[in-house]
Amino acid sequence: MKEVFLCSICNVSNGGCMEDCAYCVQSLKYNTGVDIYREKSYEDILKEAEAFYKAGALGFCLVTSGRSLTPRKTEYISKAARMIKDAGYNFHLIACCGSADKESLKELKSSGVDSYNHNLETSKEFFPSICSTHTWEERYQTCENAASVGLMLCIGGILGIGESWEDREEFYKAVNSFDPFTSNINFYIPHEALPIKNAVMQRTEAIECIKLARRHLPNTRLMMAGGREAVFGLEQKEIFEAGIDAVVIGGYLNSNGWDIEKDIDAMKGYGLEIASACH
Ligand code: SF4
Repeated sequence: MKEVFLCSICNVSNGGCMEDCAYCVQSLKYNTGVDIYREKSYEDILKEAEAFYKAGALGFCLVTSGRSLTPRKTEYISKAARMIKDAGYNFHLIACCGSADKESLKELKSSGVDSYNHNLETSKEFFPSICSTHTWEERYQTCENAASVGLMLCIGGILGIGESWEDREEFYKAVNSFDPFTSNINFYIPHEALPIKNAVMQRTEAIECIKLARRHLPNTRLMMAGGREAVFGLEQKEIFEAGIDAVVIGGYLNSNGWDIEKDIDAMKGYGLEIASACH
């Protein structure tokens, strides 16, 4: 029976970002109206960790908004990581905090962070069409930094933002150069305030994207993240047949997921087994 791994997200800071990624509601440049806050309390982080742990999530990802992992963020995320592990939540712990140097990443690792999530987002060629404030190369360098300090990698991206199939091929070749532990797939969710005016991707095209990712990343855990609900609705069996073997449960940074219990029941109904260990 095919296993599915459950991952979860905790947006420990949100919005207020000075970058201009055209697909992201957290950019200050677009008046999207999302909540803006700097540092979620440790108490709230632990409460969320407990709820996801009890729900069966194996992964828990601490996500900050903004371009990079500053010294203050490093200290804050490191403390949160130690508290989560000390509390006995034996998650595969992930941090997603933007561009980062080796020293900061080393500190996260020594505090109990297992993986670093940093997305290449799209192809090197297409990236300047969706972001002018930082480069794709900066993203690539951060992935190299994370690998060099011994962190496991989660490297994915967002599809349906105007990229071509050639861009998708090139993007997955670049992701494959890291042979990451996990790759997250996000499908663009339109927002009236964002400059990308594409509609939600059609289901058939999205399934082809998943198959493409699977072909390029045969050894990687392929995780369906943002856009799962918007693109596939309640009929999700096909995504697992196409190659998905992990999902984010309970919602994303700024969009809601399904009710966790119903979501898990649906996956079991497809004949999937919910994984009980991460490795
Ligand atoms: S850097 Fe991150 S948080 Fe900021 S706009 Fe880009 S994707 Fe959003």
